Amino acid sequence: MTKPSNPSNYSIPKSPSRLSAEDPVKDEPLKDIAEGEIESNWDEIVDNFDNMNLNNELLRGIYAYGFERPSAIQQRAILPVMKGHDVIAQAQSGTGKTATFSISILQKLDMNINQCQALILAPTRELAQQIQKVVIALGDFMNVDCHACIGGTNVREDIKKLESGTHVVVGTPGRVYDMINRRALKTDHIKMFVLDEADEMLSRGFKEQIYDVFQLLPPNTQVVLLSATMPPDVLEVTTKFMRDPIRILVKRDELTLEGIKQFYIAVEKEDWKLDTLCDLYETVTITQAVIFCNTRRKVDWLTDKLHAREFTVSAMHGDMDQAQRDVIMKEFRSGSSRVLITTDLLARGIDVQQVSLVINYDLPSNRENYIHRIGRGGRFGRKGVAINFVASEDVRMLRDIEQFYNTQIDEMPMNVADLI
Ligand code: ADP
Repeated sequence: MTKPSNPSNYSIPKSPSRLSAEDPVKDEPLKDIAEGEIESNWDEIVDNFDNMNLNNELLRGIYAYGFERPSAIQQRAILPVMKGHDVIAQAQSGTGKTATFSISILQKLDMNINQCQALILAPTRELAQQIQKVVIALGDFMNVDCHACIGGTNVREDIKKLESGTHVVVGTPGRVYDMINRRALKTDHIKMFVLDEADEMLSRGFKEQIYDVFQLLPPNTQVVLLSATMPPDVLEVTTKFMRDPIRILVKRDELTLEGIKQFYIAVEKEDWKLDTLCDLYETVTITQAVIFCNTRRKVDWLTDKLHAREFTVSAMHGDMDQAQRDVIMKEFRSGSSRVLITTDLLARGIDVQQVSLVINYDLPSNRENYIHRIGRGGRFGRKGVAINFVASEDVRMLRDIEQFYNTQIDEMPMNVADLI
């Protein structure tokens, strides 16, 4: 393994391309990679919630939720969003982006109007539901109404809920678009449009859907984009629908993976991964762990194998119906299930504070998702450990990841349990 001199720095990828393991390893010099960062054009910092001119009920909600001081991104981004600027905010996962836009939205709501005033879109249903909970919790003393408008739920109930009025809607693009078209979700009072995991939302299959929704919003709607990664081609796209956006980057030296120790286990053959995981099981259950596989079938396969050996694990992927997904997330959040096997469906955004171990049973097939996956552990500066299973054919990919993020991935030590 290469051992760069500056191990824990995470640099934002320059290349927007989602490389597969088959792609050749590129020797990109680090200074070029750093150019993939957005450039900040806003330097005002407010390092205390008390000095943000927030309304009292909101402030009470923030403190009651347990926040004492704003995080780096919150110190920089809440104010410009509140002031009505279009904003692109980039900061490492787990640093408080959800609360950044939630607080700004709550501050701008007119509680006398029982209509949707802010629309948040997220790439997965689970993330939308999680955001909904944060908005409701922070807005507890304001009596805010926030509805999660997501696929896989009863359409008629969704319509009924939206027609009865709600201040904030957070949803996935397909269902939200449908609800607007059916006139169940009225857009007349929407003044803020937030895209969480913006790079994911503006690439791949989502882009058209986002544009479709955007077309149906009032012309003066404020646009706010947040993500941990912001490839240049996505940035380019934003010029089409944002007006003089404020760009806020929480600098590279604050974007470290310092709290997350990264290891690999050389398993040689794919077939040996299962036994390796079983050997690790005791370590894994010291805390809560997420295990990533690359396909839904593999998740099912691995779950079956572990169940056959009488290990307790739960599994979740996009083929499961929503009710089932909800139960599994609930059990995992409550801690009643401790090991969750999943796909990249849960790579982004999901926040379970007790997760301190992430295992890549398969290395991710694109480099961006590596940082998102291992960011599930070590939330908000907590300790975290990531373990990568590496068969011989994965060695090149691991090296590529190491180089891409200018980080160091060591062979797993015997005392790994002490690190969790
Ligand atoms: P991101 O959206 O950047 O991935 P989240 O908004 O999910 O990160 O925040 C990560 C964790 O940090 C959450 O558990 C959240 O409650 C916590 N958190 C966010 N802001 C603060 C703060 N100012 N003080 C303490 N904890 C915070």
